[in-house]
Amino acid sequence: MSKKITIEPAKRVKDLPPYLFATIDKMKVKALSKGVDLIDLSIGDPDTPTPKHIVERMRKAVTNPAHHQYPSYVGMLSFRQAVADWYKKRFNVTLDPKTEVVSLIGSKEGIGHMPLAFVNPGDYVLVPSPGYPVYPVATLFAGGKGYEMPLLEKNDYLPDLDSIPETVLKKAKLIFVNYPNNPTGACADRAFYTKLIKFASDNNILICHDAAYSEMYFDEEKPLSFLQLPGARNVGIEFHSLSKTYNMTGWRIGFAVGNKDAVAALGKIKSNIDSGIFQAIQEAGIEALQTDDKVLAKIRKMYQGRRDALYKGLTKLGLEVSKPKATFYLWVRCPKGLSSMDFTTLLLNKAGILTTPGSGFGKPGEGYIRFALTVPVKRIKEAVARIEKVL
Ligand SMILES: *Cc1c(COP(=O)(O)O)cnc(C)c1O
Repeated sequence: MSKKITIEPAKRVKDLPPYLFATIDKMKVKALSKGVDLIDLSIGDPDTPTPKHIVERMRKAVTNPAHHQYPSYVGMLSFRQAVADWYKKRFNVTLDPKTEVVSLIGSKEGIGHMPLAFVNPGDYVLVPSPGYPVYPVATLFAGGKGYEMPLLEKNDYLPDLDSIPETVLKKAKLIFVNYPNNPTGACADRAFYTKLIKFASDNNILICHDAAYSEMYFDEEKPLSFLQLPGARNVGIEFHSLSKTYNMTGWRIGFAVGNKDAVAALGKIKSNIDSGIFQAIQEAGIEALQTDDKVLAKIRKMYQGRRDALYKGLTKLGLEVSKPKATFYLWVRCPKGLSSMDFTTLLLNKAGILTTPGSGFGKPGEGYIRFALTVPVKRIKEAVARIEKVL
């Protein structure tokens, strides 16, 4: 017989910030168990299937025995070439597929590993708040300290780079930025990227730009790649994902491009931790990157219809909503006197609508909630009608 032992979890696990969304998960389960006809607008996961031609390519690729062995961690050259071709076509940016592209098992994987490649204990990483929780958590796992850059409405949800203290800048290694932005739906313009590149160069800080939503845009206003700006490649890399663009969140495929040294350092971490993306998925990824723009235009049109319906509906009810130019999120101000959690709870318990409290993305997100456009227009209209009754 052996005696049961207790191993203390590591400090980095105990130091994890409280997971606010766990509370909401519990409320969701409770509502479902009561038989509520829930309208779930809380998840950043496309609700429509991966386009057929991509699935078909996967079906064929999966039978190829060459794909049944270990892939290379950097990714097949043909996949990296497809990435470079896509960048050329979409952004007119030329990349060397051998040295400036690395494949990722979803961009979350690359973002999560980035601090391991560059951050020593005590170093700072500049992270947007509200923001994708992976940036501060990955920083913490590497022993670094996250410095929160508030994204405020009055600054168009861009970080105020001039307000970061000198003491922080001296010890900062990386800066994470994310446009089009989750959760606010904000976009960055050329002027911001120009300023960011100068900031990175002046302070010797590597830019990590998360561009997961660059293809989810509205009104034909195409977001920029920060690599389109002069000097970008000297100071940063850009993370991309096939998840949102091609409805492929479950497939786990993404990539990082840009600065050679950063790509190599991330690759070095990966080669010691994972063994690359299943090659059949990379083949499907090549197919995805070559998708006819007509297919994507149709998907964008669908989201635009949903955005317009929800924006119009909520605005009519007197709610203050930032109209997003991209992403599939609406960032909505809570009515006076209600916190993010209050408003989320009210909508769930009184209207059967699940949203995400802004405070879950960081303190400056307090006072807002996020709606995801992941249900058809008919359900969005139903949601608006229910909210009208509650307010
Ligand atoms: C969805 C999302 C991603 C993409 O994650 P994958 O791992 O590629 O599926 C990256 N960044 C942000 C901010 C996201 O919302």
